[in-house]
Amino acid sequence: MISRTGSRWQHELRDAICSAQTLFELLELDGALAPKALKADKDFPLRVPRPFVDRIKKGDWKDPLLLQVLPLAEELDYTPGFSTDPLAERQAIAAPGLIHKYHGRVLLIATASCAIHCRYCFRRHFPYQENKPGTAQWKQALDYIRQDKSIKEVILSGGDPLLAPDRYLAELVDQLADIAHLERLRIHTRLPIVIPQRITTECLDWLTTSRLQPIVVLHCNHANEIDRAVAESIEQLLKRGVTVLNQSVLLRQINDRVDTLIELSEALFSVGVLPYYLHLLDRVAGAAHFDVAEVEALALIDQLRSKLPGYMVPKLVKEQAGKSSKTPI
Ligand SMILES: *Cc1c(COP(=O)(O)O)cnc(C)c1O
Ligand code: SF4
Repeated sequence: MISRTGSRWQHELRDAICSAQTLFELLELDGALAPKALKADKDFPLRVPRPFVDRIKKGDWKDPLLLQVLPLAEELDYTPGFSTDPLAERQAIAAPGLIHKYHGRVLLIATASCAIHCRYCFRRHFPYQENKPGTAQWKQALDYIRQDKSIKEVILSGGDPLLAPDRYLAELVDQLADIAHLERLRIHTRLPIVIPQRITTECLDWLTTSRLQPIVVLHCNHANEIDRAVAESIEQLLKRGVTVLNQSVLLRQINDRVDTLIELSEALFSVGVLPYYLHLLDRVAGAAHFDVAEVEALALIDQLRSKLPGYMVPKLVKEQAGKSSKTPI
Protein backbone atom coordinates (compact mmCIF):
# COMPACT_ATOMS: atom_id res chain seq x y z
CA MET A 1 0.00 0.00 0.00
CA ILE A 2 1.17 3.49 -0.80
CA SER A 3 1.29 5.76 2.20
CA ARG A 4 -0.52 9.07 2.20
CA THR A 5 2.73 11.05 2.07
CA GLY A 6 4.15 8.74 -0.56
CA SER A 7 1.21 9.19 -2.85
CA ARG A 8 1.66 12.96 -3.07
CA TRP A 9 5.13 12.83 -4.62
CA GLN A 10 4.21 9.92 -6.85
CA HIS A 11 1.21 11.88 -8.02
CA GLU A 12 3.40 14.89 -8.82
CA LEU A 13 5.70 12.60 -10.73
CA ARG A 14 2.94 11.20 -12.90
CA ASP A 15 1.52 14.67 -13.36
CA ALA A 16 4.83 16.16 -14.61
CA ILE A 17 4.62 18.39 -17.69
CA CYS A 18 5.91 16.61 -20.78
CA SER A 19 4.43 18.85 -23.44
CA ALA A 20 5.85 22.20 -24.48
CA GLN A 21 2.35 23.39 -25.33
CA THR A 22 1.10 22.75 -21.78
CA LEU A 23 4.18 24.40 -20.33
CA PHE A 24 3.64 27.49 -22.50
CA GLU A 25 0.00 27.69 -21.44
CA LEU A 26 0.80 27.37 -17.75
CA LEU A 27 3.50 30.02 -18.01
CA GLU A 28 1.51 32.32 -20.25
CA LEU A 29 4.17 32.17 -22.93
CA ASP A 30 3.22 32.65 -26.54
CA GLY A 31 4.01 29.31 -28.19
CA ALA A 32 4.34 31.04 -31.55
CA LEU A 33 7.24 33.05 -30.16
CA ALA A 34 9.10 29.97 -28.99
CA PRO A 35 12.76 30.83 -29.59
CA LYS A 36 13.63 28.41 -32.34
CA ALA A 37 11.74 25.17 -32.46
CA LEU A 38 11.68 22.47 -29.84
CA LYS A 39 13.31 19.99 -32.15
CA ALA A 40 15.68 18.80 -29.48
CA ASP A 41 12.80 17.27 -27.60
CA LYS A 42 13.07 13.89 -29.35
CA ASP A 43 16.24 12.43 -27.81
CA PHE A 44 15.75 13.74 -24.32
CA PRO A 45 12.15 14.89 -23.93
CA LEU A 46 10.90 17.85 -21.98
CA ARG A 47 9.96 16.82 -18.44
CA VAL A 48 9.26 19.11 -15.52
CA PRO A 49 7.04 18.50 -12.47
CA ARG A 50 4.49 21.14 -11.52
CA PRO A 51 5.95 22.09 -8.12
CA PHE A 52 9.04 23.28 -10.08
CA VAL A 53 6.94 24.98 -12.76
CA ASP A 54 5.22 26.93 -9.96
CA ARG A 55 8.53 28.65 -9.25
CA ILE A 56 8.99 29.86 -12.85
CA LYS A 57 8.00 33.47 -13.49
CA LYS A 58 5.08 33.76 -15.92
CA GLY A 59 5.62 35.34 -19.31
CA ASP A 60 9.44 35.39 -19.03
CA TRP A 61 11.39 33.47 -21.68
CA LYS A 62 14.60 34.23 -19.80
CA ASP A 63 13.51 32.85 -16.45
CA PRO A 64 16.54 30.99 -15.01
CA LEU A 65 14.44 27.97 -14.03
CA LEU A 66 12.70 27.78 -17.39
CA LEU A 67 16.04 27.87 -19.23
CA GLN A 68 17.12 24.74 -17.35
CA VAL A 69 14.25 22.66 -18.71
CA LEU A 70 13.26 24.12 -22.07
CA PRO A 71 14.57 22.14 -25.07
CA LEU A 72 16.04 24.48 -27.68
CA ALA A 73 17.22 23.99 -31.22
CA GLU A 74 20.78 24.90 -30.06
CA GLU A 75 21.00 21.44 -28.52
CA LEU A 76 21.26 19.99 -32.00
CA ASP A 77 24.29 22.10 -32.95
CA TYR A 78 27.50 20.16 -33.29
CA THR A 79 30.30 21.63 -31.19
CA PRO A 80 33.77 20.07 -31.37
CA GLY A 81 34.96 18.89 -27.96
CA PHE A 82 31.44 18.11 -26.71
CA SER A 83 30.89 14.35 -26.72
CA THR A 84 28.33 11.79 -25.58
CA ASP A 85 30.58 10.43 -22.80
CA PRO A 86 32.59 13.46 -21.63
CA LEU A 87 33.68 11.86 -18.36
CA ALA A 88 34.71 8.51 -19.80
CA GLU A 89 32.43 6.95 -17.21
CA ARG A 90 31.97 3.88 -19.34
CA GLN A 91 35.57 2.89 -18.59
CA ALA A 92 35.00 3.12 -14.85
CA ILE A 93 32.05 0.74 -14.68
CA ALA A 94 33.13 -1.85 -12.10
CA ALA A 95 29.92 -3.87 -12.13
CA PRO A 96 26.57 -3.21 -13.78
CA GLY A 97 25.38 0.14 -12.38
CA LEU A 98 28.52 0.70 -10.28
CA ILE A 99 31.08 3.39 -11.16
CA HIS A 100 34.39 3.26 -9.29
CA LYS A 101 36.52 6.22 -10.30
CA TYR A 102 37.79 7.72 -7.05
CA HIS A 103 39.54 6.26 -4.04
CA GLY A 104 37.32 5.23 -1.15
CA ARG A 105 33.96 5.90 -2.76
CA VAL A 106 31.80 4.27 -5.38
CA LEU A 107 28.81 5.58 -7.23
CA LEU A 108 25.84 3.25 -7.49
CA ILE A 109 23.21 3.99 -10.08
CA ALA A 110 20.03 3.29 -8.15
CA THR A 111 17.60 4.41 -10.84
CA ALA A 112 17.89 5.19 -14.50
CA SER A 113 15.43 8.04 -14.69
CA CYS A 114 14.89 11.54 -13.39
CA ALA A 115 11.86 13.53 -12.27
CA ILE A 116 13.08 16.51 -14.27
CA HIS A 117 15.10 16.67 -17.46
CA CYS A 118 17.83 19.29 -17.10
CA ARG A 119 18.98 20.28 -20.54
CA TYR A 120 22.66 20.52 -19.53
CA CYS A 121 22.71 17.02 -18.03
CA PHE A 122 26.04 15.23 -18.39
CA ARG A 123 24.35 11.84 -18.29
CA ARG A 124 21.89 12.54 -21.07
CA HIS A 125 23.64 9.97 -23.26
CA PHE A 126 24.65 7.46 -20.56
CA PRO A 127 23.92 3.83 -21.57
CA TYR A 128 21.29 3.30 -18.89
CA GLN A 129 19.90 0.29 -20.73
CA GLU A 130 23.06 -1.69 -19.98
CA ASN A 131 23.26 -0.34 -16.46
CA LYS A 132 19.67 -0.76 -15.47
CA PRO A 133 19.42 -1.03 -11.74
CA GLY A 134 17.38 -3.69 -10.05
CA THR A 135 17.61 -6.18 -7.27
CA ALA A 136 19.25 -8.71 -9.60
CA GLN A 137 22.02 -6.23 -10.49
CA TRP A 138 22.74 -5.38 -6.87
CA LYS A 139 24.39 -8.69 -6.20
CA GLN A 140 27.35 -8.00 -8.48
CA ALA A 141 27.67 -4.43 -7.22
CA LEU A 142 27.46 -5.51 -3.59
CA ASP A 143 30.01 -8.29 -4.18
CA TYR A 144 32.40 -5.76 -5.70
CA ILE A 145 32.01 -3.38 -2.75
CA ARG A 146 32.39 -6.25 -0.28
CA GLN A 147 35.71 -7.37 -1.72
CA ASP A 148 37.31 -3.90 -1.81
CA LYS A 149 38.01 -2.80 1.76
CA SER A 150 39.24 0.61 0.64
CA ILE A 151 35.65 1.63 -0.11
CA LYS A 152 34.21 3.61 2.79
CA GLU A 153 31.36 5.42 1.12
CA VAL A 154 28.59 4.50 -1.28
CA ILE A 155 27.00 7.28 -3.29
CA LEU A 156 23.53 6.57 -4.58
CA SER A 157 23.14 8.38 -7.84
CA GLY A 158 21.24 7.98 -11.08
CA GLY A 159 19.18 9.31 -12.70
CA ASP A 160 17.77 10.39 -9.39
CA PRO A 161 18.04 7.69 -6.71
CA LEU A 162 15.07 9.10 -4.80
CA LEU A 163 12.81 8.13 -7.68
CA ALA A 164 13.08 4.57 -6.43
CA PRO A 165 10.40 3.48 -3.96
CA ASP A 166 11.31 3.71 -0.28
CA ARG A 167 10.88 -0.03 0.18
CA TYR A 168 13.51 -0.73 -2.49
CA LEU A 169 15.91 1.85 -1.07
CA ALA A 170 15.42 0.58 2.48
CA GLU A 171 16.38 -2.91 1.38
CA LEU A 172 19.42 -1.69 -0.51
CA VAL A 173 20.61 0.33 2.48
CA ASP A 174 20.10 -2.69 4.73
CA GLN A 175 22.42 -4.71 2.55
CA LEU A 176 24.98 -1.93 2.35
CA ALA A 177 24.96 -1.50 6.12
CA ASP A 178 25.93 -5.18 6.42
CA ILE A 179 29.25 -4.49 4.70
CA ALA A 180 31.53 -3.81 7.67
CA HIS A 181 34.05 -1.49 6.00
CA LEU A 182 31.38 0.96 4.75
CA GLU A 183 31.00 4.06 6.91
CA ARG A 184 28.94 6.55 4.95
CA LEU A 185 25.91 6.66 2.70
CA ARG A 186 25.65 9.60 0.35
CA ILE A 187 22.64 10.46 -1.82
CA HIS A 188 23.05 12.71 -4.86
CA THR A 189 19.56 13.97 -5.62
CA ARG A 190 17.64 16.84 -7.14
CA LEU A 191 14.24 15.57 -5.94
CA PRO A 192 14.03 17.51 -2.65
CA ILE A 193 14.32 20.62 -4.86
CA VAL A 194 12.08 19.46 -7.70
CA ILE A 195 9.35 17.66 -5.70
CA PRO A 196 10.06 18.47 -2.04
CA GLN A 197 7.19 16.19 -0.93
CA ARG A 198 9.57 13.33 -1.73
CA ILE A 199 11.08 13.64 1.74
CA THR A 200 8.58 11.34 3.42
CA THR A 201 8.78 9.75 6.85
CA GLU A 202 9.63 6.42 5.19
CA CYS A 203 12.48 8.10 3.32
CA LEU A 204 13.86 9.72 6.48
CA ASP A 205 13.65 6.33 8.18
CA TRP A 206 15.84 4.31 5.81
CA LEU A 207 18.18 7.25 5.42
CA THR A 208 18.83 7.83 9.10
CA THR A 209 18.29 4.58 10.96
CA SER A 210 21.06 2.45 9.49
CA ARG A 211 24.56 2.31 10.91
CA LEU A 212 25.86 4.43 8.00
CA GLN A 213 26.38 8.18 8.37
CA PRO A 214 23.95 9.95 6.00
CA ILE A 215 24.86 12.77 3.63
CA VAL A 216 22.56 14.32 1.06
CA VAL A 217 24.03 16.36 -1.77
CA LEU A 218 21.32 18.45 -3.39
CA HIS A 219 21.48 19.91 -6.84
CA CYS A 220 20.19 23.48 -6.95
CA ASN A 221 21.41 26.11 -9.41
CA HIS A 222 19.43 29.21 -8.57
CA ALA A 223 17.97 30.84 -5.44
CA ASN A 224 14.50 30.84 -7.04
CA GLU A 225 14.49 27.03 -6.80
CA ILE A 226 14.18 27.27 -3.01
CA ASP A 227 10.64 27.92 -1.88
CA ARG A 228 8.87 27.20 1.42
CA ALA A 229 8.19 23.55 0.65
CA VAL A 230 11.84 23.01 -0.28
CA ALA A 231 12.98 24.72 2.92
CA GLU A 232 10.65 22.48 4.93
CA SER A 233 11.90 19.27 3.35
CA ILE A 234 15.49 20.31 4.03
CA GLU A 235 14.55 21.08 7.62
CA GLN A 236 13.26 17.50 7.99
CA LEU A 237 16.60 16.15 6.78
CA LEU A 238 18.56 18.39 9.14
CA LYS A 239 16.36 17.51 12.12
CA ARG A 240 17.19 13.87 11.57
CA GLY A 241 20.91 14.59 11.59
CA VAL A 242 21.63 14.41 7.86
CA THR A 243 24.53 16.52 6.54
CA VAL A 244 23.07 18.50 3.64
CA LEU A 245 25.33 19.94 0.95
CA ASN A 246 24.63 21.39 -2.47
CA GLN A 247 26.26 21.21 -5.84
CA SER A 248 25.49 23.54 -8.72
CA VAL A 249 26.51 23.71 -12.33
CA LEU A 250 27.72 27.06 -13.66
CA LEU A 251 25.33 27.81 -16.52
CA ARG A 252 25.31 30.54 -19.11
CA GLN A 253 22.39 32.97 -18.65
CA ILE A 254 21.17 31.06 -15.60
CA ASN A 255 23.67 31.68 -12.78
CA ASP A 256 26.73 33.22 -14.47
CA ARG A 257 26.60 36.55 -12.60
CA VAL A 258 28.21 37.23 -9.27
CA ASP A 259 24.99 38.60 -7.71
CA THR A 260 23.10 35.46 -8.72
CA LEU A 261 25.75 33.20 -7.19
CA ILE A 262 25.80 35.26 -3.97
CA GLU A 263 22.02 34.99 -3.71
CA LEU A 264 22.23 31.25 -4.27
CA SER A 265 24.83 30.71 -1.53
CA GLU A 266 22.89 32.91 0.88
CA ALA A 267 19.58 31.20 0.10
CA LEU A 268 21.16 27.78 0.61
CA PHE A 269 22.83 28.70 3.88
CA SER A 270 19.67 30.32 5.20
CA VAL A 271 17.95 26.91 4.98
CA GLY A 272 20.94 25.12 6.51
CA VAL A 273 22.68 23.86 3.35
CA LEU A 274 26.39 24.32 2.71
CA PRO A 275 27.51 25.05 -0.86
CA TYR A 276 29.84 22.19 -1.80
CA TYR A 277 30.74 22.29 -5.49
CA LEU A 278 30.24 24.68 -8.36
CA HIS A 279 30.88 22.54 -11.43
CA LEU A 280 32.05 23.77 -14.77
CA LEU A 281 29.75 22.32 -17.36
CA ASP A 282 30.67 18.83 -18.49
CA ARG A 283 31.34 18.95 -22.18
CA VAL A 284 28.39 16.89 -23.24
CA ALA A 285 27.00 17.06 -26.75
CA GLY A 286 23.88 19.24 -26.86
CA ALA A 287 24.84 21.50 -23.95
CA ALA A 288 27.50 23.76 -25.45
CA HIS A 289 25.25 26.82 -25.29
CA PHE A 290 25.32 26.61 -21.46
CA ASP A 291 29.11 26.70 -21.27
CA VAL A 292 30.91 29.40 -19.26
CA ALA A 293 34.62 29.79 -20.04
CA GLU A 294 37.10 28.80 -17.36
CA VAL A 295 38.64 32.30 -17.06
CA GLU A 296 35.21 33.77 -16.56
CA ALA A 297 34.39 31.15 -13.94
CA LEU A 298 37.61 31.95 -12.09
CA ALA A 299 36.83 35.65 -12.07
CA LEU A 300 33.36 34.90 -10.68
CA ILE A 301 34.66 32.72 -7.88
CA ASP A 302 37.28 35.36 -6.96
CA GLN A 303 34.52 37.92 -6.60
CA LEU A 304 32.43 35.50 -4.53
CA ARG A 305 35.39 34.93 -2.24
CA SER A 306 35.80 38.65 -1.70
CA LYS A 307 32.11 39.12 -0.85
CA LEU A 308 31.08 36.06 1.15
CA PRO A 309 32.30 34.21 4.22
CA GLY A 310 34.52 31.33 3.20
CA TYR A 311 31.99 28.66 4.14
CA MET A 312 29.53 30.08 1.60
CA VAL A 313 31.95 29.84 -1.31
CA PRO A 314 31.58 26.56 -3.23
CA LYS A 315 34.66 24.84 -4.63
CA LEU A 316 34.96 25.52 -8.33
CA VAL A 317 35.75 22.21 -10.02
CA LYS A 318 35.63 20.43 -13.28
CA GLU A 319 35.51 16.77 -14.02
CA GLN A 320 38.27 15.41 -16.20
CA ALA A 321 38.36 11.90 -17.49
CA GLY A 322 41.08 9.79 -15.89
CA LYS A 323 41.79 12.07 -12.88
CA SER A 324 41.74 10.75 -9.31
CA SER A 325 39.31 13.44 -8.12
CA LYS A 326 37.34 16.38 -9.44
CA THR A 327 39.84 18.99 -10.61
CA PRO A 328 39.89 22.26 -8.65
CA ILE A 329 40.17 25.35 -10.82
C1 LIG B 1 31.76 13.15 -8.30
C2 LIG B 1 31.94 11.74 -8.19
C3 LIG B 1 32.21 11.14 -6.95
C4 LIG B 1 32.27 11.95 -5.67
O1 LIG B 1 33.34 12.85 -5.62
P1 LIG B 1 33.52 13.78 -4.35
O2 LIG B 1 34.65 14.67 -4.72
O3 LIG B 1 33.78 12.90 -3.19
O4 LIG B 1 32.23 14.53 -4.17
C5 LIG B 1 32.43 9.78 -6.89
N1 LIG B 1 32.37 9.02 -8.01
C6 LIG B 1 32.13 9.56 -9.21
C7 LIG B 1 32.12 8.66 -10.42
C8 LIG B 1 31.89 10.93 -9.35
O5 LIG B 1 31.62 11.43 -10.56
S1 SF4 C 1 18.46 15.71 -12.11
FE1 SF4 C 1 20.67 15.43 -12.47
S2 SF4 C 1 20.88 13.46 -13.56
FE2 SF4 C 1 18.71 14.14 -13.71
S3 SF4 C 1 18.57 15.30 -15.62
FE3 SF4 C 1 18.97 16.78 -14.01
S4 SF4 C 1 21.23 16.97 -14.00
FE4 SF4 C 1 20.73 15.08 -15.11
